[in-house]
Amino acid sequence: TPVLQLADLSHVYVNEKGAALVLEGLQLSLSRGEFLSLVGPSGCGKTTVLNLLAGLFPPTMGRVMLGGETVTGPSPKVGYMLQQDYLFPWRSIRDNAAIGLEINGTKTRASMEAVDEVLSELGLGGYGSRYPHELSGGMRQRVALARTLVTEPELLLLDEPFSALDLHIKLQLEELVQRTLKRLSKTAVLVTHDLAEAAAMSDRVIVMGRNPGRFRSELVVPEEIR
Ligand code: ADP
Ligand code: ADP
Repeated sequence: TPVLQLADLSHVYVNEKGAALVLEGLQLSLSRGEFLSLVGPSGCGKTTVLNLLAGLFPPTMGRVMLGGETVTGPSPKVGYMLQQDYLFPWRSIRDNAAIGLEINGTKTRASMEAVDEVLSELGLGGYGSRYPHELSGGMRQRVALARTLVTEPELLLLDEPFSALDLHIKLQLEELVQRTLKRLSKTAVLVTHDLAEAAAMSDRVIVMGRNPGRFRSELVVPEEIR
């Protein structure tokens, strides 16, 4: 079974100003460990796709299936990493990284050991008892990644997670994230407006256009480019 399947997904936003068709007939299937990027201009519907994958609202038409089951709402099987880290300033790095475990009710001595392990794998071994203000932007994004990974999601959604970073930190982090997700065989969908970033990180790229039906151009990124 594919980890993720989109079957003829369409979405229309309706409000007092009228109705806007944003997605039309999106089909997609991702197997375990595959990394997909969605690229396209602002307003083309990238965030809408991620929000549908996260089950934040239902699609107007079609289905999102995760592990063969139709998504009907938010689930701990999906992890989200955003442009901002949203760390709690009054919590230590370790307790920030563990927050998803608390929310899911799976925080135990063993899962806290896993938190420490993930933090060290991401080069933050010595920082567990520090606080967010003591870390650089790139380090805080690594904490945000750790926080997502420790809940062991089946699908990771990455919404412009590098776009607020300086160029060389951004490149370093892209490499670290790509390597870590491959090693853990995580299935991921990245939204970015940076085609170089998409090519460097993904197995496949879907280029979305302003016109809702125009997102079928799909590229398979050759190994040597990644
Ligand atoms: P543009 O103005 O370049 O067409 P937009 O991203 O503003 O691009 O809008 C794309 C389409 O979505 C337009 O048809 C617009 O009317 C519609 N749209 C944008 N925002 C909303 C909104 N908040 N509610 C309803 N329709 C919207
Ligand atoms: P992107 O992430 O590619 O910038 P979005 O998915 O955020 O695009 O938005 C796609 C289109 O849908 C835009 O035209 C946007 O204005 C419109 N839109 C997004 N959210 C809403 C909403 N809640 N209500 C109405 N229109 C929306």
